[in-house]
Parts: sequence; structure tokens; C-alpha cells
Amino acid sequence: METKDIEKIVRPNILAMAPYSTARDECEGSPEIFLDANESPYDNGFNRYPDPHQKRMKKAVAAVKGIREDHIFLGNGSDEAIDLAYRVFCRPGIDNAVSIAPTYGMYGVAAATNDVEFREVPLGKDFSLEPDALLAAADANSRLLFICSPNNPTGNSFPREQIERIIKEFNGIVVLDEAYADFSSQGSFLRDIDRHPNLIILQTFSKAWGMAGLRVGMAFASPYIIRLFSNVKYPYNINGLTQEIVTGKLLEAATLHVREIVSERARISEAIAGYPGIMKVYPSDANFILVRCTGPKDLYNALMEAGIIVRDRSGVRGCEGCLRISIGTASENSRLIRTVAAWSASLYPGDRISGNASCPVSPESPEGICTGGTAYADGNNGTGTNADRCYNAPVTAHADSTGAAARRATVSRTTSETGITAIIDLDGKGPSYISTGIGFFDHMLDQIVHHSGISMLIKAKGDLDVDEHHTIEDVAIVLGKAISEALGDKTGIGRYGFVLPMDESEASVLLDFGGRTDFRWDAEFSREKIGDMPTEMFPHFFKSLAETARCNLHISARGENEHHKIEGIFKAFARALKMAVAREKFPYSLPSSKGLL
Ligand code: PMP
Repeated sequence: METKDIEKIVRPNILAMAPYSTARDECEGSPEIFLDANESPYDNGFNRYPDPHQKRMKKAVAAVKGIREDHIFLGNGSDEAIDLAYRVFCRPGIDNAVSIAPTYGMYGVAAATNDVEFREVPLGKDFSLEPDALLAAADANSRLLFICSPNNPTGNSFPREQIERIIKEFNGIVVLDEAYADFSSQGSFLRDIDRHPNLIILQTFSKAWGMAGLRVGMAFASPYIIRLFSNVKYPYNINGLTQEIVTGKLLEAATLHVREIVSERARISEAIAGYPGIMKVYPSDANFILVRCTGPKDLYNALMEAGIIVRDRSGVRGCEGCLRISIGTASENSRLIRTVAAWSASLYPGDRISGNASCPVSPESPEGICTGGTAYADGNNGTGTNADRCYNAPVTAHADSTGAAARRATVSRTTSETGITAIIDLDGKGPSYISTGIGFFDHMLDQIVHHSGISMLIKAKGDLDVDEHHTIEDVAIVLGKAISEALGDKTGIGRYGFVLPMDESEASVLLDFGGRTDFRWDAEFSREKIGDMPTEMFPHFFKSLAETARCNLHISARGENEHHKIEGIFKAFARALKMAVAREKFPYSLPSSKGLL
């Protein structure tokens, strides 16, 4: 569109109107006494009207954004600019606006309040932009076309060339909402504003700039459009305090924390992506992620119970099953990850021990099939039945960034005495979460996590009202099975041992994944319990684990302090395990002269 054509699509009443002129607009010279605006004369810091043209603030914005002041409109949030676009360009009951869907809800709400038809064009596969469909949805009365990039709530940016094509071909105003552009590697269209007379770019101080509470949004456009917006806006649309604070922040070059948010975004995405129940974490260019899961309401409630609120977008067309999660501080995000891990573990039929008869993971889940623990499909599309097992996570199915196959396993086992789920990643790529109901046992399992570098999510619900025996034994069985499965064909692993002093005590653990199973234990405990864990269960735990992990395990310990001895054993076991499962330089060799394990 040419500049001269813009005037043709402005509402006639807007073109004809005489804008409100404030008392200070008519002021010439430098008066000392202000009796022109019916203000209070008593100075309390706020008794005078603020600058309606926000001159100081615009100067600061112009400097920060590298753009001329006459290209800038400042509003009460960018929501004000969205509403103004309708009021300036759309005749109620006649004109229409075109938009992508799903996207930010205010475009539709502002259309409704202005009595303007709102045409939603669904995004394509993986939320891609469909320029042909968008342009085809427009007709002679289409005045506005909304694109949000990076898009809310999907998080993705759209290709520049596609946006550029739409700006060129659409016969009206393209409103490009860049509220999240600071978090994107794609950059902004701001420097192209002079090339596109029909482009309005929206940005905001509410996101990366951290000033949502002050309510300032920006619209960038040609001086002609900016003048129209200024004529229609409320005269004092940005209050004096906000102007002062925002200007100050801009001049002092406030810290934007973009780098932290972007790296935390990657951390959360990676951490939760492998969890059963999480079907997809969409790639994001914004300060939030969209997460598709098997039970959005259920996960929402679990997060709420942990004191974390996220945005449930599962009711939005195109976002079925999705929660939108904003990126918080590192510690907030860690709590989020732990809560998602706990929720994920609770999806397993282990919960049947408290009466929940079936696994709630949808049978349609592309990640695997689970019907109450009796049927399974693994990541290699193998299926089968096993009364003890219920798989949802791909088992050794995904390759990691180096191209090596991921070494993960998920094993669930339910008996009348316990329900246990173990999700492990031998390469430490997942988060860890241990909960067995036995404090000292959790502490010992944590030692394995810390000192082996293996990620473990272990959730156990056992008959602790009887005693600890079944829970400890069954955790060992499930964990051993998970290790064995994650090791797969054992390429690249070795046979190892570790000796470790712990103050006056020493512990030795010899470990061999050669295939033959044996277990030797040489450690005495005089106390009946350490913490809430019976000492007789220590050898029993390792024996059960050795059987299902199919390893040869020799453990001995000497010393005076009982706590030191057992902690030394768990740590030495962890270190031996770490070495034993580490990928060797030549991963295709088997650690056996027989060439077969
Ligand atoms: N645009 C998008 C895409 C948004 O997500 C939001 C707020 N969530 C806004 C605009 C409005 O921002 P504000 O009014 O705070 O400037």
C-alpha cells in the first residue's frame, strides 16, 4: 500500500474530527502561575496534569529503539493501541479484521467491543503461518490484519519473508505484535517501518522490560498513523508517575534479564520434555512455553497445589491439551520441574495401591500406549503384554545431540503391596525426584543420583503401615530393571569397582555388568535401624537390585560409625555405577573378550 492510500481506509469521522486541545497545548511562553487547567494549586507531587504528548518519555524511547519520535505512539499498555487501531480504521458493523488463530485474545475482544467482524484463520501444522489462507480471508472491507510474532500462546516466531509478503499484499493495515520480540533471535521489523506505510508494530514494556505494572505499550508506524492515534487517544493516557519512572528506567539502561529467561526456557523445556504425560514442549521464542500434556487440568491442579499458577489454554482451539507456562526465576523453575516430575510419576498404575484402577495416560498418546499396566508400546513401536509393566516413555528410542541413542528407561511395577515407578536416564539428561516415603532411604537414593550422575525419578507407594520391607525391596527390583533396560545391549560399558573412605569407615563396591548375576555382602551393622530404615534391608536392597539389573555386585564395608558405613556404600555404588555405564571412547566395543555379554 502507498502512503496516499492509507487515508482512504481511515474512518471518515476520524478524518473529520477536531482533536481535543488541552490547556497546556494552548500555552505559549513560560508562565509561572497555572490557572488554566482547573488543577489544585497545592503541590503534592501529583497535582498537575501530566504531559499529554509524553515528550521526555518519547525522546528516551526514540533513543533506546533507534527511531524518530514522530514514529512513536505510547499507550496505556499495547492493549490501548490495539483498540485504537479498530477505532481509527474500522467502521462498526461494516469493516472486518483478519487474524491468525490461536493468538492473543485482545485482538478479538477489541473487535467485539468495536462491533467489527473478526475473521480467524487457523495456523498450519506446528503453528506455522499460512500467508495464502490469511490473504484469502480478506475482502474489500478488511481493514486490519493481526500477526503476533513470536506468537502468544504458541511461542513461535514466523519467517520474516512470509510476514513481509503479507504486509506487501494486504490491502489494509497489518498490525504486527512484537510484544515478545526481545526474547527472539529473529529480531524486529522496526528498522523497516519507513518501507511499509501500512505497518503498525506493537511492542510493550510489560515483558522483557519488567514494567507490566506501570502499563506502557508502544506502537510504531508512519507519522501519519501516529498523528491519527494521538488525535483519538485520551489526552492524558499515561499518568505522570509512570512517565517519570519509565523514562528514568530507559535513561539508566535497565537490565532486561533476557539471557537468563532464554537459558531457563531451554532448561525447563529439556527437563520436562521426556516425562511421561508430557506429549510436547513446543519450541519457543518468547518468555513462556506451550506444553501439551495428557491431562492439562490434572497437571494444572497439581501445580496449583504446589503453589504455582500457569495458564490453562486447553480450551483454546488449536491448543487442546496445552498449558502455557511463563518462565520464572531459576528457583521458581526448579520447583516447577520438580512438581511436573512428581505429577508425571503419579500417572502410573502405582497409584492403584490407593484404589486408582487405571493409568490415566491417553491410549491415543503418540508417545506410547498404556492400559492399566497390562499392555505397553515402547519407543521402538514394539508392543506386548506384561502384567507388571506399564510403559509410556520411549525406551532407548531417542538419539541425543551427539547422535548416540538416549539411554532411558521407564519401569512401573504394581503388586498388592507396592506401586513403584522408576524413570532413569543413564546420561543424566532428565531431572531427578525421589519419593519412597522412607526418609533415610530417600537420602541414600539421592546419594546414588548425586554421585553417579544418573537421573532418576523414583516414586514409590508401599504398605509402610506393615513395614518398610516391601517398599525397599520393590524399589530395588524396579530400579535394577530400569538400569538393565536403559543399558540396552551394553555397548560401550565396562566393569568397575570403587573404594571410598568415609571418615573412619571404608566402603568397597565391585560391579560388573557382564551378564552373570552374583551378590556378595560383607558389612555388619549393630544398630537395628538407621533413620527410619532397618539395617537388615541394606543387603536386601542391593541383592534385589543386582538380580534385576543382572549384574555381579560385591559390597564390603568396615568402620565404627553406622551412618558413615552405609552412606559410604551408597556413594561407592554410585561411583562404580557411574564408571560402569559411562560410554567409552569406542562405543561399539563390548567389554568382553567373548564379544558377547
Ligand atoms: N500483545 C501480546 C501478544 C500480549 O501477550 C500482551 C499481554 N499479554 C499484550 C500485547 C499486552 O501487553 P500490555 O498491554 O501489557 O502492553
